[in-house]
Amino acid sequence: MTAIAYRSTRGQSPELTFDDVLLTGLAPDGGLYVPERFPRLSDETLKGLAGAPYTKAAMAVVGAFVDEAFDEASLTGMIDAAYGRFLHPAVAPLTQLGADDFMMELHHGPTLAFKDVAMQLLGQMFPARLKARGRRMTIVAATSGDTGGAAVDAMAGQPGVNICVLHPEGRISEVQRRFMTTVAADNVHNIAVKGNFDDCQALVKAMFADDDFRDAVQLGAVNSINWARIVAQTVYYVTTSLTLSRGGAPVHYCVPTGNFGDIFAGYVAKQMGAPVGHLIVATNENDILDRALRTGDYKPDGVRATQSPSMDIQVSSNFERLLYLASDEDAEAVRSMMTALKSGQGFAIPDALGQSIRGDFSSYRSDEGATGEMMARTLKDTGELIDPHTAVGLVAAAGARADGLEGPLVTLSTAHPAKFPDAVEAATGVRPTLPPRVRDLYGRKEVMLAAPNDLGTVSGLIREAFAP
Ligand SMILES: *Cc1c(COP(=O)(O)O)cnc(C)c1O
Repeated sequence: MTAIAYRSTRGQSPELTFDDVLLTGLAPDGGLYVPERFPRLSDETLKGLAGAPYTKAAMAVVGAFVDEAFDEASLTGMIDAAYGRFLHPAVAPLTQLGADDFMMELHHGPTLAFKDVAMQLLGQMFPARLKARGRRMTIVAATSGDTGGAAVDAMAGQPGVNICVLHPEGRISEVQRRFMTTVAADNVHNIAVKGNFDDCQALVKAMFADDDFRDAVQLGAVNSINWARIVAQTVYYVTTSLTLSRGGAPVHYCVPTGNFGDIFAGYVAKQMGAPVGHLIVATNENDILDRALRTGDYKPDGVRATQSPSMDIQVSSNFERLLYLASDEDAEAVRSMMTALKSGQGFAIPDALGQSIRGDFSSYRSDEGATGEMMARTLKDTGELIDPHTAVGLVAAAGARADGLEGPLVTLSTAHPAKFPDAVEAATGVRPTLPPRVRDLYGRKEVMLAAPNDLGTVSGLIREAFAP
């Protein structure tokens, strides 16, 4: 079969190979890359993957999207290295919470959040492909919490890659900060910026807009719009749906959602032929997606700080991929919706498109009170201590059951409770402890730079650290 080409959701950029898409962020026209078609896993392949090791499923799924730059031996090496660092051999193990209710634990990676699943694979793919192209890259990222830690861990010590993460000083949890600042590697830098997350993000955007700077440090990104991250996340929907499906019957998923990357990977698994049923978007009080799916109005509404901060977002960037695919690749329609969004007005999802989306997706919202109650109730009923993001997911799962959803239902547990100890303790009275491998986190030496919210200062620090 010929390799899959990737096209932009806005229809005005040239098609690229997987290898190019991996190292490119946004398309030049502002769109996100999607495959021209979804590779199907044959019935025989699916049968062979049921109960197979995670890495074997990853080979089948990731292997279906890459191009000839990734031969079987090199891809196997990358996948083994990426997932060998997980604390659980199943990578994404299932826990049973009720007769047909399950939780998929995605927090067994090095930084205890689901972002490790994708980032560890990028940490293998980037250096390999940069080396082949005789290039190097400086990744600059802004983080409000989990992404920075996962990226730092994945890139630490990787040849050809430098990484610098900006975080808002004093505004991320100590666990989150320590996962970034205690990694002793020459190619890692952290800058604590005197400002908030939006200031950090604005600094990164400004650096990408500066051609001189971009070339000088060979600027790159690892944000959640990277297609390779979606592909890596598709794997665990394939493995778990095959485990739980009864004779090919669909398995439903409930996904704590922010940027729509994780749940979109479930949609990809479904397109590939895995027995994935309904996909349930779980939002916290930042409920743009819940409102959009229920009313058809996609309208930003400001960001509220919640106890599930990794879902505190204003706009879900990966939703654009769904809009494009569910509208039969109507790039013009996507462009006009995104123009309206940029103007701050939002847009109305056309009826036919909304109906098509609701064929696969539904949504529920949890407020802060319900999220806390769910943490307490889950501990009482099942003995499981869960983090606030997972609790938002379980509130949505309960909503779907109350509305009559039947069949196996898997809620994604996206972070370890010890990543959010204060919120978990406030809700349950129990202070979660770190897993043994990272128990010394609070004793490790932190290294970071500090800077005012000033572009010249921050870009100067990055140049000094990494420019040849
Ligand atoms: C990033 C994140 C999410 C949201 O995932 P998206 O792909 O952005 O929808 C949920 N929970 C946790 C813990 C996260 O880190």
